[in-house]
Amino acid sequence: MKEHSKNYDAIVVGGGHNGLVAACYLAKAGKSVLLLEAHEELGGATTSVKPFPEYDARLSRYSYLVSLLPDQIVADLGINFRTLDRPVASYTPYRKDGRDEGLLVASDWNEDTAESFVRLTGSDREAAAWREFYGEIATLAERLAPSMLQPLKSAAQLKTETGLPDLWRALMEVPIGEIIRERFQDDIVRGVVLTDALIGTFVTANDLQANRCFLYHLIGNGNGQWRVPQGGMGALVKELLRVAEASGVEIIRKARVVSLESGGNGVRVETEAGDAYRGKDLLFAAAPQILERLRNQGRQADEDVGAPRKSLEGSQLKINMLVKQLPRLKSGVDPRIAFAGTFHVNESFSQLEEAYAQASRGEMPLPLPLELYCHTLTDPSILSDALNAKGFHTLTLFGLHTPAALFDANPAQATALAQERALAGLNQYLLDPIESVLAPCSDGTLAIEAKSPLDLEKDIFLPRGNIFHRDLDFPFLDESPSTQQWGAETDDPHIYLAGAGAQRGGGVSGIAGHNAAMALLAKSQ
Ligand SMILES: Cc1cc2nc3c(=O)[nH]c(=O)nc-3n(C[C@H](O)[C@H](O)[C@H](O)COP(=O)(O)OP(=O)(O)OC[C@H]3O[C@@H](n4cnc5c(N)ncnc54)[C@H](O)[C@@H]3O)c2cc1C
Repeated sequence: MKEHSKNYDAIVVGGGHNGLVAACYLAKAGKSVLLLEAHEELGGATTSVKPFPEYDARLSRYSYLVSLLPDQIVADLGINFRTLDRPVASYTPYRKDGRDEGLLVASDWNEDTAESFVRLTGSDREAAAWREFYGEIATLAERLAPSMLQPLKSAAQLKTETGLPDLWRALMEVPIGEIIRERFQDDIVRGVVLTDALIGTFVTANDLQANRCFLYHLIGNGNGQWRVPQGGMGALVKELLRVAEASGVEIIRKARVVSLESGGNGVRVETEAGDAYRGKDLLFAAAPQILERLRNQGRQADEDVGAPRKSLEGSQLKINMLVKQLPRLKSGVDPRIAFAGTFHVNESFSQLEEAYAQASRGEMPLPLPLELYCHTLTDPSILSDALNAKGFHTLTLFGLHTPAALFDANPAQATALAQERALAGLNQYLLDPIESVLAPCSDGTLAIEAKSPLDLEKDIFLPRGNIFHRDLDFPFLDESPSTQQWGAETDDPHIYLAGAGAQRGGGVSGIAGHNAAMALLAKSQ
């Protein structure tokens, strides 16, 4: 083991975007910071890659849209990172009375959207319910979002401060499925609302865990808009890396931490490569389950820091595609409209509930609920000029209710089955089957890659493929006594959680990194 003598103010473990955000804040505050990343490449779930080497197309391989990243973090750190509006929020194709149609929801409410609701539901009642519901949520989002970068408040305090007690009760205290059933009548409309509660969260609509997921999908940056990262998600990492290096953060890649000790004098970590580093404090920006394993190593049973908190399995399938042209739709809608926002397939309320029931029984859902979106319609910069000139596009498919357990017995076969069902689901609504537009590769394959929850664990260390590291928490303290100030503290005064698994972590937000850095800085004041 090579012992390095420098004693850093802080060691950050994990160079995903949260680890980088934490490191930047600390270095800018004058702390000496060492960041250790297991992989050669930084970014974790926020990387962009060229998955099809012969095509110059840099896809956001894992996460792909941004909502939760507060403008304040972008401004504080001086990162040059832009997100772009999507003109369309969603398009949901359906078949009614033998005709192919679609529910189109523009990002800003307009006549086309109103008419689209009437065509689906036969009256303007559902449209009015939609506007009322999301109008109330927008007010809540605006009032709640600033608290994400402040010390934790109690539920009671935030409920009073946000001044919407009925909506608070509906979103935080009653299962979201009940609220959706109460406020909406149509199965498809209900499903479009419900999907925000199920991204990366394997539960029924009747589980309060779905409410947590729903909240995170609607309060981002005070407006809940899901925006396109210009240049792909990797552009965020590139900028954070630039600022981290300019601020003096020492970054070591291929430095997977395999051992951790903590005592009165601070922390000591060892890497797989055989290096040992010391620091006064440690910010752990990889999954908390990994931290618990490291802390438990070599301890006596009676000193056990405890088994990792039980968390749901990851439950999504991510499919990245490069197409020669956008496929035409049976409904006749322009694909540049249909795929610009979130394209929902097999995601009516009843289909989502049925898919959950099937997957809980150990069956791959049929039909498989999924959503699709085209990055390049909003931001063509991730493709070379030559590919843009030829009309190529990228498509991102996110399958729901495909929990890790479905892949354990035979990962390759299960992934192939999930992909087959996802593409078949999509093809129901396409004139050009998706396979006919996928870009061909010279080895005879097509430009498509699928990542199951098990792949996410293998490739980027997400425990059982949970995209938020572990179950999301509500962004406030419950009524039980707590020593938490920032949602980053652990029971070791030298160790902080700085990644998605911290309270108020989850998603591409940098909030967990910011809050861990604030917790550490508050201590040293
Ligand atoms: C397929 C997918 C799609 C998603 N889509 C979206 C989306 O569109 N929008 C959104 O907001 N969120 C999305 N998410 C969630 C979001 O990407 C994550 O919650 C977030 O990026 C987590 O960031 P992080 O920095 O906390 O952790 P991570 O990105 O997980 O980074 C942790 C880092 O720690 C490193 N590491 C792990 N163990 C060790 C160790 N022992 N030693 C050293 N380093 C270690 C890892 O290599 C990794 O680089 C998605 C996630 C996935 C997987």
